[in-house]
Amino acid sequence: MQLLDVAIVGGGPAGSSCAAFCAAAGLRTLVLDREKFPREKVCGDCLNPSCWPVLERLELARRVRDLPHSRLCSVKFIAIDGREVIVDLPSGDACEISVKRSLFDDLLLRRARELGANVHEHSTATGLSRNNCWNIETASGEFFHARILVGADGRNSTVARLCNLLPRPERERVALQAHVPRPRDFDDRIVLQFLREGYSGQAPVDETQLNLCLVGTPPTISTLRNWAERQFDLPANQPWRTITPLTRSSIPSAREDLFFIGDAARVVEPFTGEGIYYALRSGELAASAIAKVLRGDDRNSVLREFGRAYSQMYRGRLWINRLSRAAVLRPRLGSVFVHSAQIRPEIIKSVTAKVVAKL
Ligand SMILES: Cc1cc2nc3c(=O)[nH]c(=O)nc-3n(C[C@H](O)[C@H](O)[C@H](O)COP(=O)(O)OP(=O)(O)OC[C@H]3O[C@@H](n4cnc5c(N)ncnc54)[C@H](O)[C@@H]3O)c2cc1C
Repeated sequence: MQLLDVAIVGGGPAGSSCAAFCAAAGLRTLVLDREKFPREKVCGDCLNPSCWPVLERLELARRVRDLPHSRLCSVKFIAIDGREVIVDLPSGDACEISVKRSLFDDLLLRRARELGANVHEHSTATGLSRNNCWNIETASGEFFHARILVGADGRNSTVARLCNLLPRPERERVALQAHVPRPRDFDDRIVLQFLREGYSGQAPVDETQLNLCLVGTPPTISTLRNWAERQFDLPANQPWRTITPLTRSSIPSAREDLFFIGDAARVVEPFTGEGIYYALRSGELAASAIAKVLRGDDRNSVLREFGRAYSQMYRGRLWINRLSRAAVLRPRLGSVFVHSAQIRPEIIKSVTAKVVAKL
């Protein structure tokens, strides 16, 4: 039996970042992902500028910029009645970009592999037990053994479920996402549009494709889909990816030899487009803590330090995320916000600046 230092379930941004940093620290690192990469993922595809410092530490910033992408120069908020407010986004190297998750996630996972992580795709974790170490069973009947286990398997985390830690999901909302032909007059900007039944996020991912997200409730999502078909001239058989829940309570990010990172630990409202940053950064923080625990540092103080750094990552940002959630849950309220921003744009400008500030 080969005993690994760390087994990471999930090879999205959180799992790949954690694996890359663990492998770079010389740890015997395993990543399991149920998918074969490259794979798409329900997401707005927007990279918050806070991601750049983590990508630089992964020596990936230039390679991300080499991927097909759009540089996003502004965000346009549209109220239900069509009134609009446009807010500029940072320019230069700290700009926000949009890039397809199939390309971005594949690059991250390849980086983890380059640094020495052992990556198993098409490998779904289905069982867990713990004696002196963690024993992880996959759907194909393989077993892996590791000293530390990391749940990086997204909002419906199997690791959390198997550990009886997964909070009851709030299935009040559902998201649909597709890449559709980019309308000729669609500028390099994000559009966040309040609609009576929910909202839509739109961002060009390259010259020819637009990322289109719809967020609504199960009874209203088909009305939103019909709206999108008319608005973007889509065929009735347009394929959509889907995901739920959009909201879920958080779970503690570390306990003894078990860590949760990215969406597995905390799901944020997608409206502000920050989830990838939290995934990358929490992966980095967890890797640093894991390396210290494994080299024999005092576990309690390492976990305390990790907990502080983890909370710091969200400090000053979560209230904006909660405010956004309140606005999107009541699109009329969100629209009032857009109306008032037409008269006093400084509030929406300062909130947007806070969300897209490079950390
Ligand atoms: C509609 C919508 C729009 C969004 N838009 C944005 C945006 O524009 N910008 C932004 O920053 N964030 C956005 N987000 C949030 C972002 O998508 C997530 O925060 C981010 O993907 C979290 O990364 P992760 O690595 O934690 O999880 P994920 O990206 O979900 O990766 C989890 C991985 O685990 C694997 N997995 C799951 N279960 C198992 C298992 N049992 N065994 C093995 N592997 C498993 C999956 O295959 C997957 O590859 C959006 C979210 C939604 C819903």
